[in-house]
Amino acid sequence: MSSIPFPKRKISRNVALEQLMILERTYPRAQTALGHRNPYELLIAVILSAQCTDVRVNMTTPTLFKKYPTPEKLAQAAPKDVERIIKSCGFYHAKARNIVAASREIAQRFGGRVPAQREALESLAGVGRKTASVVLANAFDEPALAVDTHVFRVAHRLGLTTGKTPLDVERDLTAVVPRKKWGLATHWLILHGRAICKAPRPLCDRCPLLALCPTGKRLEKNPAQPRGPRRRME
Ligand code: SF4
Repeated sequence: MSSIPFPKRKISRNVALEQLMILERTYPRAQTALGHRNPYELLIAVILSAQCTDVRVNMTTPTLFKKYPTPEKLAQAAPKDVERIIKSCGFYHAKARNIVAASREIAQRFGGRVPAQREALESLAGVGRKTASVVLANAFDEPALAVDTHVFRVAHRLGLTTGKTPLDVERDLTAVVPRKKWGLATHWLILHGRAICKAPRPLCDRCPLLALCPTGKRLEKNPAQPRGPRRRME
């Protein structure tokens, strides 16, 4: 949770491009932390990762995929059996229901293959825009930028967006990030949010973006700055 007020104005395109270059240099091996061997495993892992850490999901999915190695197998699972395996990921009733239902749809409507189109992905149980973006970018190498809580916060603090909703933020980011790097930019912002630009207090003195960041410069001038109102997704 962060309550540091976000900048009210976006930074210039040139500064944004410089920030992106630094992020790319800082996180050269950026990739999803969710363990997976194919689109099916990634999709299920992303659904399980809602409100849960990637580490916890990675501790859970090997057992799940050993028992249910394909969508067809998971489609036939008893939800209670699935719940037992995924319980530690939280919201396990809904998640079990969704991953079984999504697997059934994949088996019945898509011939057992996870679809590579956004509309088809978003028609699956438990799959919204963010989950579809993660799967498109990481399983199919399609240009897609996913806005999670880290991306939302870090993009705001850097002045890359003033968007009020995840979709607004996605629009601002995709207007400045080169299309072929949309998936990578998602990872840069997530990694930066986890390691340095943390909520509630960012570690600006360790941040390579400090000289280009409106929030960092403001906090540097006034470290005891009072906390302001929060925005959505924080
Ligand atoms: S300078 Fe501070 S607020 Fe800005 S991106 Fe870095 S850690 Fe975040």
